Amino acid sequence: MNIQLPKVRILATGGTIAGQGNSPLQTMGYKAGQLSIAELLSTIPSIENIATISGEQFANLPSSDLTPTHWLKLAKRINTMFTEENDLDGLVITHGTDTLEESAYFLNLVVKTEKPVVLVGAMRPATALSSDGPMNLVNAIRVAASKHAVGLGVLVVMNDEIYASRDVTKTNANRLDTFGALDFGTVGTIDNGNPEIYYRPTRRHTVHTAFDITLLQELPRVDIVLGYVGADEVLVTALLGAGAKGIILAGTGAGHISPPAERVLREAYQKGTVIVRGSRTGTGRILPQLPHDFIAADNLSPQKARVLLMLALTLTQDPAKIQEMFFTY
Ligand code: ASP
Repeated sequence: MNIQLPKVRILATGGTIAGQGNSPLQTMGYKAGQLSIAELLSTIPSIENIATISGEQFANLPSSDLTPTHWLKLAKRINTMFTEENDLDGLVITHGTDTLEESAYFLNLVVKTEKPVVLVGAMRPATALSSDGPMNLVNAIRVAASKHAVGLGVLVVMNDEIYASRDVTKTNANRLDTFGALDFGTVGTIDNGNPEIYYRPTRRHTVHTAFDITLLQELPRVDIVLGYVGADEVLVTALLGAGAKGIILAGTGAGHISPPAERVLREAYQKGTVIVRGSRTGTGRILPQLPHDFIAADNLSPQKARVLLMLALTLTQDPAKIQEMFFTY
């Protein structure tokens, strides 16, 4: 019997999943982004029985080397691919774990397909004993090939778990179970190679967003300022001088910062720089507190609030409209 296998593309961007160390015990200080996608796929037994897979080397970088220009190029490639190849069932993107959540949320807002797009990485390089890369990659392929993963937005698969890209974050610098969605949990799991979806994200994504990157060549500059004891106005002033169109405040607690920094932020806001109040705590909601307050990040992490603000600023600078977007996406 000739069973039609799902067709899955893998776009490789680098990271630890393609990393190489000097010994099987080296789990730190190795080189990320060394092996090609063909080499990664060759480590997976009987891969030809799982899906019809083709690999494409988009880049081979540690994820801290990626830029918003890479994001735009990657998103355009994905949108073209799904437009041109009707029979493609899903896409896997291999990626360094450091910034994986940022790329995943960016793609979640701009990719124009309901088909599964799954980001995956590894915490141990390919050369390490018990590297998590091959199992994570197979799991990601299984999710990308699954009809049950259609319409969930861009997903992240790590350590046998499936996350919505809006929720997921890297929580530990070293451990295999580093990824978590602290306020919400997983949307599903993978056991014996079988994805099981339990929850669906409700915030708008992919084909349901207002964002169109087709003609964009760059994204507006948005930076993040951390709140801490004794923070003064120097960093904010420098960022405004560098041309920041928006600033995310990763504030203490429910989004606070010391008076000198708050004062320059407020002045900038009145002059038209868009300021979003977020929290450095990692969980919990920030809501508008006073009339004419900064925009509130809801429960987006500062790094994800930055992604949304960069895209929002391609459409409007109106604080009320941008606030609405923070409650929509
Ligand atoms: N430094 C690596 C990167 O983000 C870490 C990883 O891939 O896990 O590319």
